[in-house]
Amino acid sequence: MAYKISDECISCGACADGCPVGAISEGDGKYVIDAETCIDCGACASTCPVGAPEAE
Ligand code: SF4
Ligand code: SF4
Repeated sequence: MAYKISDECISCGACADGCPVGAISEGDGKYVIDAETCIDCGACASTCPVGAPEAE
């Protein structure tokens, strides 16, 4: 299980700063989560202003 960032992402970067394991990086047009690194903590979903990170 891991979180995934939807196309709603506005590339603000807030989630990347708050991820405890550094799983989030800037991708092509939106931020992306490395599923191998994500520990499913949900912090990014709480931080995101547009609700882009979703649990898979
Ligand atoms: Fe990082 Fe937690 Fe979001 Fe996974 S759920 S990307 S570990 S903040
Ligand atoms: Fe995208 Fe939300 Fe992360 Fe901002 S906090 S970069 S809008 S997923």
